Amino acid sequence: MYEDVQLYIDGEWKAGAAARTLDVINPATEAVIGKVAQAETADLDAAVAAAQAGFETWKRMNAYERANLMRRAANLLRERADAIARTMTLEQGKPLAEAKGEAMSAADLIDWFADEGRRAYGRMIPSRIPGSYQLVIKEPVGPVAAFSPWNFPINQVVRKLSAALAAGCSIIVKAPEETPAAPAALIRAFADAGVPRGVINLVYGVPADISGYLVPHPAIRKISFTGSTPVGKHLAQLAGAHMKKATMELGGHGPVLVCDDADLDTAAAQLGAFKLRNAGQVCTSPTRFLVQRAVFAPFVEKLVAAMSKVRVGDGLSEGVTMGPLANARRLRAMQSLVDDALSNGGTLRLGGKRIGERGYFFEPTVLTDVPQRARIMSEEPFGPVAVVNAFDTLDEMIDEANRLPYGLCAFAYTRSAKQAHRIAAEVETGMLTINQIAIAFPEVPFGGVKDSGYGSEGGAEAIDPYLNLKYVSQLDI
Ligand code: NAD
Repeated sequence: MYEDVQLYIDGEWKAGAAARTLDVINPATEAVIGKVAQAETADLDAAVAAAQAGFETWKRMNAYERANLMRRAANLLRERADAIARTMTLEQGKPLAEAKGEAMSAADLIDWFADEGRRAYGRMIPSRIPGSYQLVIKEPVGPVAAFSPWNFPINQVVRKLSAALAAGCSIIVKAPEETPAAPAALIRAFADAGVPRGVINLVYGVPADISGYLVPHPAIRKISFTGSTPVGKHLAQLAGAHMKKATMELGGHGPVLVCDDADLDTAAAQLGAFKLRNAGQVCTSPTRFLVQRAVFAPFVEKLVAAMSKVRVGDGLSEGVTMGPLANARRLRAMQSLVDDALSNGGTLRLGGKRIGERGYFFEPTVLTDVPQRARIMSEEPFGPVAVVNAFDTLDEMIDEANRLPYGLCAFAYTRSAKQAHRIAAEVETGMLTINQIAIAFPEVPFGGVKDSGYGSEGGAEAIDPYLNLKYVSQLDI
């Protein structure tokens, strides 16, 4: 059912140099289901050498050939999506349908970036000097080091991998040790599609050791990290010290502005489902629900009803719509944040505790009237917990939305175009979705502001960080 996972370096699947491994745990059962190889410094040396050689090959292939290989990988991923989904559910916990959706949307993303790579044009700037040409050429930056987390084992890798490959870069992916098999299946699709050896390399191990080695390494020219803000700040500092380009996709604390003219049924249904997607372990998850007082009581009732509908269980079981949390750390974090909110005077409207004693299951939880001093009002829960507080005016709601240093994704519900425009102008965020939830498509920007990071992992802008600009002026003689 679950195969042990190896490193992929220079076109070969292999154990780490010291043959050390880490256990992989099924979060629904807490059983050890397999092992993942751990990279040592010798493996990282080999991966860097391979990425350097792979870069020389890949950057010389034209964008059409690169796009064809990428599209072939996308099709392999689609063909294998059912098997990959099972693997992902076993190691990460999310329901099978969500896991398959992740694999299928990864394939779409690869296709989109494949085309974008063919359109990574430079430009010509008319010169002031007769007979002179001024060209702006875009060139791949070089080997990339990418660090991806466990919440979307495939999708967090595929955005970095596709953008890098489309630009003509090679890459070393440090994928998550807790959910290693799904990203390995993604990379296998590229290998089977015919991407030349060395272009893509995959390692696992001790995250701090690997980033401490790869980020400063002179051969690595670009860093991309998705994960928590503290780790992101540390890696951004390291990248800065070595003058490396960096993309940082970090934490959030999604504010939701529900105005008194909102369609409450739509808002509660959409937000309730989105809150519990991937058991709330999503950087764009809605967290602080800021609701105008006139509609506070009916909104809370509808949100509780929507979140009660979910069926929690092993993601492999039929009908389950929310799986366990991905690891024991999240379970402890949920209980501690909920207990702290209640001891600070918050009110529990739904859930609030672990389910059972085996597997990292936590109840969908709604808290209301939580004071600002409670930790959950400033710490990202990254779990199935919604906090709903009442406000009198839109001004107060916007102030609260902007209070935290985060700015990743915000949500708003109002029937007034004027209020919607105001929210769009004044909420400090990288993404805002109004009266619907429509984010994370390949063609739209994906990224945050403030402590949520910088750089976009979607849209036409996502390829630029993997390209250098070169200005060439030439006089015909
Ligand atoms: P964590 O901060 O220890 O790790 C987050 C991720 O960073 C993991 O994938 C980890 O392997 C990696 N990491 C940690 N230290 C690293 C280092 N020195 N170099 C390179 N990579 C490193 O926390 P965690 O317990 O795994 O996750 C908890 C928090 O992380 C969540 O509360 C959430 O805020 C954040 N997170 C965010 C995302 C996201 O999509 N933005 C995804 C996963 C986790």
